Amino acid sequence: LFLPLTSQSHTKTMALDISSSDSQTSRREEIDLSPSAFLPDLVSEALVWSSLHGLVVGDKSVQRSGTVPGVGLVHAPFALLPVSFPKGLWRQACELAPIFNELVDRVSLDGQFLQDSLSRTMKVDAFTGRLLDIHSKMLEMNKTEEIRLGLHRSDYMLDSETGLLYQIELNTISSSFPGLSCLVGDLHRNLLNHYGKHLGLDSRRVPGNTAVSRYAEALAKAWNEYNNPSAVVLVVVQPEERNMYDQHWLCTVLREIYPSFTHNVATIRKTLSEIDAEGQVLPDGSLVIGGQTVAVVYFRAGYSPNDYPSETEWRARLMMEQSAAIKCPSISYHLVGTKKIQQELAKPNVLERFLENKDDIAKLRKCFAGLWSLDNSDIVKSAMERPELYVLKPQREGGGNNIYGDDVRKTLIKLQNEGGDELAAYILMQRIFPTASHAFLVRDGICHEDDAISELGIYGAYLRKKDNVILNDQCGYLMRTKVSSSNEGGVAAGFAVLDSIYLT
Ligand code: ADP
Ligand code: MG
Ligand code: MG
Repeated sequence: LFLPLTSQSHTKTMALDISSSDSQTSRREEIDLSPSAFLPDLVSEALVWSSLHGLVVGDKSVQRSGTVPGVGLVHAPFALLPVSFPKGLWRQACELAPIFNELVDRVSLDGQFLQDSLSRTMKVDAFTGRLLDIHSKMLEMNKTEEIRLGLHRSDYMLDSETGLLYQIELNTISSSFPGLSCLVGDLHRNLLNHYGKHLGLDSRRVPGNTAVSRYAEALAKAWNEYNNPSAVVLVVVQPEERNMYDQHWLCTVLREIYPSFTHNVATIRKTLSEIDAEGQVLPDGSLVIGGQTVAVVYFRAGYSPNDYPSETEWRARLMMEQSAAIKCPSISYHLVGTKKIQQELAKPNVLERFLENKDDIAKLRKCFAGLWSLDNSDIVKSAMERPELYVLKPQREGGGNNIYGDDVRKTLIKLQNEGGDELAAYILMQRIFPTASHAFLVRDGICHEDDAISELGIYGAYLRKKDNVILNDQCGYLMRTKVSSSNEGGVAAGFAVLDSIYLT
């Protein structure tokens, strides 16, 4: 999901020093680059490197940049230096990935749990309702997915008050940046190789990021299980996509890494409306698009109501779901990633319904922040009194949809006055306040200095055929950094950039 992080309305200044265990200069906020003679060199070198290595996105000032590859490229926004992150918490986040992968798979098998948990939400949220309708149809058909592929990304913030890692959300559809995130780590290691001595930073402490190759491997393994050498991977895309190079990176690697196969894995890119126009399901269940059989449907669109402007797009989604192609994600995996399910899973004794291993359950629970449904009147009251301590979330993906600060109070009052079930469209979440640190954010060739906070995403891949778990692993990471400056009245355009981590 390419949209930037939405900006927060508070900067926590009373913060824990997350790198206090490290005596060396490792926090980038301690590095005073501003008067330094080599800051312009560093920025310039980073810009050249990004352009030469494909750390790029479409430039929104160029009209065709979202549709025609090679036209109107600009470097992706990035942080000039990696952000410090404690090694222990990094390991913790990586360890959680296979547990979340398994959880998603288990929850997806409980169709009734998904239907029940989302039943009130669907009445007031038409988008969730449409997704749930497709899910109901699959339940009625008794559709079983023998080969299940999950490419998830679990996002975390480090809470400054407690020093704990809290999950922000789990993305089960269109987890973005497996391609570009790897490149930012490479960029940072490259810069530190040249300037690390001046900065007191060691490039070896920026961990390698394997997201793109591991995701490609997972897609290739799924394709292999489908067992049709002439079949392709279908990438479902938006009609205009300025983040296309992130997606192309994945497809390029997919084409290249398995020369040992009789056929390399080819991909085709189609929008939902093209799929409706060109696609069909054969009597044996095969999904065929423009004459090509599809082994794996990989969604990089379809997560937002905007992706379904008409019935055409919904028809395409249903057709793919009914087919025998491997869906990444299936409708049930998609629904497991909703905010409502995240909140239901955080209730007491719910994880126990899906997982047996007590240690795993404890590890998951440790990273759960406070999550509440709005039928809890005590919490609604508390959120009206102290709205700054909560985030109000609808069932949406892609950033920019959450409600913060005084808007939480206003929205809750409005929803209550409207009566009915309107509150069921939302969940409340404890607001996490990460430590702000000084950062150099480069966008459109210009370097800005600001206080910033970061969000760590860990990619996970899961592949199962019948009872055989073929893959269940963490695959790499995404660090995103955004300015933390206060923003009265809620959501404003965020200034988020791609980043990497410096282990301390
Ligand atoms: P989306 O699916 O749209 O990405 P998220 O739950 O990730 O939804 O929320 C979007 C952004 O809002 C996050 O990237 C983060 O910056 C901020 N955010 C979400 N939840 C919290 C929270 N509990 N505390 C602080 N910030 C949050
Ligand atoms: Mg999301
Ligand atoms: Mg998110």
